[in-house]
Amino acid sequence: LLRIDCPWCGTRDETEFRYRGDASVSRPADASPSDAAAAVYERANPLGWHREYWLHAGGCRQVLVVERHTLTHAIQSVAPVAPLDSSVPAPSADPADREGGGA
Ligand SMILES: [Zn+2]
Repeated sequence: LLRIDCPWCGTRDETEFRYRGDASVSRPADASPSDAAAAVYERANPLGWHREYWLHAGGCRQVLVVERHTLTHAIQSVAPVAPLDSSVPAPSADPADREGGGA
């Protein structure tokens, strides 16, 4: 089981998250149809560190970029896709405040 350290919610179990794909692929702006299809459907299966999108579906519903080792499942970094919005109040660091919140 992965434990992902969400910048907003703290460290949570993998079951709260949904994998949302390879974060290292971007669709070329001027791609031919076959190149565009390749960008959507063709995926590498690398051994080692891999950047992935994960949605925190059971929490803040933010999309994160997680750098995960595909063999050991160790997580090297977790970052928001967009810069943190300072106008959004930070979640409480006290776990008691998060229990039963029912997001
Ligand atoms: Zn979160």
